[in-house]
Amino acid sequence: MNKLDGKIALITGGTSGIGKATAEQFVHEGAYVFITGRRDMALAATVKEIGSHVIGVQADVSNLGDLDRLFAQIQREKGKLDIVFANAGITPLAPLGKITEEHYDTLFTINVKGVLFTVQKALPLMPDGASIILNASVVASVGLEEHSVYAATKAAVRSFARTWTTDLKDRHIRVNAVSPGPIDTPWWHTRATDEQGLKRWSERVPLGRPGTANEIAKAVVFLASDDSSYITGAELFVDGGFAQV
Ligand code: NAD
Repeated sequence: MNKLDGKIALITGGTSGIGKATAEQFVHEGAYVFITGRRDMALAATVKEIGSHVIGVQADVSNLGDLDRLFAQIQREKGKLDIVFANAGITPLAPLGKITEEHYDTLFTINVKGVLFTVQKALPLMPDGASIILNASVVASVGLEEHSVYAATKAAVRSFARTWTTDLKDRHIRVNAVSPGPIDTPWWHTRATDEQGLKRWSERVPLGRPGTANEIAKAVVFLASDDSSYITGAELFVDGGFAQV
C-alpha cells in the first residue's frame, strides 16, 4: 500500500526543481499526476523522464484562460482532483530603491494571483477531504536583503493557507503551506550571482548545507497524504533550521 494510491494530483511548475521532484515522489507513492509548465519541450522531457502516471499540460499560472483549459482537461480525463500542490513561482530579487513596477507586478502576478486562481479554479473538482499544499518560503519569516517583494508574495501565500483553511472547513479540505529554506534547484544556477546566493544563504543554515528538492518533496507527500490527516492551516518549515534559530 502506497501513501497516495489512486489519488489524482496537480503540481504547477512541475518541470524543474521542487515541482519535478514532487511529481516523481507522488507517482512513486501511487498517484496519477498532472504537471504544468510554460514550455512544451520541458514538459515533454519531464514526462518522458518520469515515465508513467504523469501528463504534462502547457499552462501559465498567471493566465486564467490557461487555467480554465487545464482544469477542463483534468475534468475530462479524470473527473476529480484529490491533491493540488501550488508550486510554480519565480524569485527575482531587488533592493529597496531599485524596485520597479514591472518587478512588483510580475512577482505578484505569478506568485500570488497564480496561486489564488489555481486553487479557486481547482475547487469544483476537489472532493471533500482533499489536500491543498502551497509552496511558500522561509523568506516570509525573516528579513533577507533584496527580498522585499518576493518575501511579501510568500507572506501572502502563507496567509492564504490560514484563510482558506477556514473557508474550506465545512468540506474538510486541508490547506497547508510548505516553507523551504535554500534548496539546491536549477533556479540557483541560472545566473552566477544566484549560485553565490545559494552558498551565502546556506552558510546560515544550522544543518550546514542547502536542502535538496527531494527533501521538500517528502514533506509535500506527508502533507498530501493521510499521514497529516489532523494538520491544516499550518506552515511546515523544511529549512535545515534557517528560520528557526
Ligand atoms: P525552479 O525554477 O527549478 O522551478 C520553478 C518551476 O515553476 C519551473 O518548472 C517553472 O517553469 C515554473 N513556473 C514559473 N513560472 C511559472 C508560471 N507562470 N506558470 C507555470 N509555471 C511556472 O525553482 P524551484 O526552486 O523548484 O522553485 C519552486 C517553488 O519553490 C517556487 O515557488 C519558489 O518560490 C519556491 N521556493 C524555492 C526555494 C529554493 O531555494 N529553491 C526556497 C523557497 C521557496
